[in-house]
Amino acid sequence: MDELLDIFRNLGQDDYKLILFASIIVVFLFLINWFRNYVWNQRRIRRQQYYRNVYLKSDDWRRKRYVVLKRDNWKCVHCGNRATQVHHTRYAKYNIGKEPIKWLESVCKSCHDSFH
Ligand SMILES: [Zn+2]
Ligand SMILES: [Zn+2]
Repeated sequence: MDELLDIFRNLGQDDYKLILFASIIVVFLFLINWFRNYVWNQRRIRRQQYYRNVYLKSDDWRRKRYVVLKRDNWKCVHCGNRATQVHHTRYAKYNIGKEPIKWLESVCKSCHDSFH
């Protein structure tokens, strides 16, 4: 502890400037990081809204959904009950609607509810 105090006592004017500068950098980086997260979050929310309000109502999706249900024989891939919904195991982040069929699976309502 004494050594630490000595270090502080021996700091010159330039050292303080350096510390101040470093602190500003740290705060700045923190702000950038916060801002980046904020922007990402906003984009994610917008994607989800677009997804729910536009894509899930499109004919494209209806066709794809049908293909997936047919592939899985209208059975829930988790419990074997009759499938009524299609679940995304992954989302195509930047190309909504371009997800390959293998990312989709037929599920019943109760299994699907347990995933979300
Ligand atoms: Zn199920
Ligand atoms: Zn789902």
